[in-house]
Amino acid sequence: MKRSSYRGRFAPSPTGPLHFGSLVAAIGSYLDAKHHNGIWLVRMEDLDTPRCAPGAADDILRTLEAFGLHSDETLICQSRRTAAYDEALRKLQAIPSVYPCCCTRREIADSALNGIEGPVYPGTCRNGIPAGRAGRAWRARTNNAAIEFDDVLQGRISQHLERDIGDFVVKRADGLFAYQLAVVVDDAFQSITHIVRGADLLYSTPRQIYLQRLLGLTTPIYMHLPVVLNAQGEKLGKQTLAPAISRDDAVTTLMRVLKFLQQQPPEELRGATVEQILLWGTVNWKPEKLTNCRQYPV
Ligand code: GLU
Repeated sequence: MKRSSYRGRFAPSPTGPLHFGSLVAAIGSYLDAKHHNGIWLVRMEDLDTPRCAPGAADDILRTLEAFGLHSDETLICQSRRTAAYDEALRKLQAIPSVYPCCCTRREIADSALNGIEGPVYPGTCRNGIPAGRAGRAWRARTNNAAIEFDDVLQGRISQHLERDIGDFVVKRADGLFAYQLAVVVDDAFQSITHIVRGADLLYSTPRQIYLQRLLGLTTPIYMHLPVVLNAQGEKLGKQTLAPAISRDDAVTTLMRVLKFLQQQPPEELRGATVEQILLWGTVNWKPEKLTNCRQYPV
């Protein structure tokens, strides 16, 4: 069958093994890409080296393989893409839409108002670094124009970055590039047209769209899947000690993922192989079955 222009991706951070929530994002992005006859890529977001766990990237790749999820192109690793992020930062500096910031986390916490994702940067360094201090991080200068997009599942999302988020970090005080910048540069570099990921990243999207506009990049289509919560109602992750996905009995886990994604797989599929189940999921993929799963206020 002819390939479409659809290009999707799964972009795990190797801070630990895959858990059920990240597997849902992997499979959701894969099924959406394959249903559209598209390309599906894996990108290792190993940028935040202090948070990366030794061996986690390989472990994630082995788990994806066990679930029949193979990247259609060579894997790229963010740890090797610093030159591209540097170039994007230079473009932002030339506009200029970023500025150096000397504030410590403590100073910000002491004077910040709370936004939708924590403290809103009070703007201390917006008009220059105070005398005697040195710039440590780089922040994007935001404004209050509404940034809006229509998420395939979550509907219309609108944010006023200056009020809701504040001037955000694109290069950190420790010299590492921030996720928000790297993800925008790499999605464009890989010509990603559709982003399917967990709704824990829904509120990051307006920052990413803002950077795309500053850098003259196209905005992909976004679909944010419901977040998997544990029995305590917390998002699965390293902090909540989510168990690692086992590579044994992938069939049972895959069926659980399809059920979580409201795809109603027939019980007979339990006797099928992982590849056959993925094929069933691809052919029958109906993300609209998830539209009542909106978890986030807008
Ligand atoms: N690396 C990010 C994470 O694991 C996901 C990035 C994305 O899908 O945009 O949370």
